[in-house]
Amino acid sequence: MTHTPVFRLTAIAATLMATSMLIALPQAASAQDAVPQNDLLNATLWMQKSVEYKANTLAIYALAKMQLDAALADKNWTAIPDEQGADYSGKPAAIILDADETVLDNSVYEASLIQRGTSFSGKEWTAYVKDEVTKAIPGAVEFTQYAASRGVKVFYVTNRTKEEDPATLENMTKLGFPMGGDVDTLLTKGEKEDWKSAKGTRRAYVAKDYRVLMLLGDNLGDFVDDYNGDAAARMAVYEKNMSHWTKDWMMLPNPSYGSWESTMFGNNYKLPADEQRKMKIDQLEGWKPAQ
Ligand SMILES: [Mg+2]
Repeated sequence: MTHTPVFRLTAIAATLMATSMLIALPQAASAQDAVPQNDLLNATLWMQKSVEYKANTLAIYALAKMQLDAALADKNWTAIPDEQGADYSGKPAAIILDADETVLDNSVYEASLIQRGTSFSGKEWTAYVKDEVTKAIPGAVEFTQYAASRGVKVFYVTNRTKEEDPATLENMTKLGFPMGGDVDTLLTKGEKEDWKSAKGTRRAYVAKDYRVLMLLGDNLGDFVDDYNGDAAARMAVYEKNMSHWTKDWMMLPNPSYGSWESTMFGNNYKLPADEQRKMKIDQLEGWKPAQ
């Protein structure tokens, strides 16, 4: 095979670069070893240590409180017109909140992953849940207590599992969340056969007996079941539901994880972190400076 001059020059440049990288390698490698790369770092620091994050969640819960007052004054209000069915205006009022990163702050778990240089494990997550060290997202306890004080039933639709249900119930009770009294308001994944990761069946379950005034979550899947498409499909779902956002659907910020991130690597969690990172970088829309 013959190379054109351009290719030969490129090959020479590549050899020179490789040589200089080899010379620089020992230092670069030791620097990497000392401070390993982890995509969770900034997001976890922001959620755990910044006033900016806390003020954000306070603002969303303050808006939710105002919107709840508006909803209670309007007997035709429902946040889930498709799942609510007919003749709902006489039903008692309810709201549905997701748990993790909506009302519960798991930043100590994320921080632990970064500090130990490891990644999510379902078994370890369950152990963490059973430790009952989860804290509340700022504004969440006050908002749910306010809703309960107005006679609104507060449901939590979470993909924590049936096995994790008792510890979650205890943890949330200790934090001061209203937990439903003799009504099961903590609806975990697998508690009933058709309660899978998609939450539509559980929203419909609540809607049978209640008029659902508001949904709160940190993930598109807390509002709709078609959340796992590619970025364009997710954007279309967002736009289709524009009348709900900030009215009766409230989205909390979660820069750590979620379907927004996994869609960037085709929801393939088995890919090595480096490959996931490459796919994420490839999808960035970047400014190209003039040469
Ligand atoms: Mg969540």
